[in-house]
Amino acid sequence: MTIAILSALAEEQHGLVDAMDGLQTLRHVGRDFWRGRLHGHEVVCALSGIGKVAAATTTAALVERFGVRAVVFTGVAGGLGPGVNVGDVVVARQFLQHDMDASPIFPRWELPGYGRSALASDGAMTDALAGAAAGAVQAGMAEAFASACVHQGLIVSGDQFVGSHQASDRLRGELQAAGHSPLAVEMEGAAVAQVCLDYGVPFAAMRTISDRADDSAHVDFALFVRTVASRYAQRVVSDFLRFWPAQADAH
Ligand code: SAH
Repeated sequence: MTIAILSALAEEQHGLVDAMDGLQTLRHVGRDFWRGRLHGHEVVCALSGIGKVAAATTTAALVERFGVRAVVFTGVAGGLGPGVNVGDVVVARQFLQHDMDASPIFPRWELPGYGRSALASDGAMTDALAGAAAGAVQAGMAEAFASACVHQGLIVSGDQFVGSHQASDRLRGELQAAGHSPLAVEMEGAAVAQVCLDYGVPFAAMRTISDRADDSAHVDFALFVRTVASRYAQRVVSDFLRFWPAQADAH
């Protein structure tokens, strides 16, 4: 049973590949895939690239070519929910594509053909990931973020870096008016969730908040990705794999 560890950017995954045993690097569909063993699991690490289509291609390749039977995403995102601050971790319970809009033929945000707008993450994997994230935050992973905490709920994805307070206010306001409570915004998660649903592969995701999707988002994002993101990823993914029994991959 092979688990995929997916991130958008190399900085988000840095260190994980170095920790793998029996490492093999394979090139496929213009991407590198790193296969090996990590904490008793068969693992493939890969980068989705940025945006929904790139992420969908990588995810499909992970299932079709590498036979993965579970996908875990670790990366960074902009904080959207009240009290979701830089240095906090958001563990996804649902995903929604905030730029999906086939109205008036379908309700806004509904995925045509799926009859719903939000897709759920896998419960058991998400519980394990949330446990790993809580451990990392309690251990004071980021000394600079002493009051960091873990949130669980809706992550929204779209092909847009949300980097102004107008854009984030609008996104949050429109979604909240429709009864959605977005905690974080990024550019890949909901696409990975859709591909995993199509293939029947369980999926879980955690995002560390790099910015508040506001006017300083591009500066905060760049600094965070360089300095903090990979430490969170390494710690949380390692603990997740330790908690996650090898035989559970088979469910
Ligand atoms: N020029 C940047 C582009 C990164 S895009 C670079 O250095 O490559 C931002 C990435 O981080 C995406 O993969 C997205 O999932 C996540 N992200 C972080 N903050 C975000 C925000 N405010 N809006 C959208 N995506 C964000």
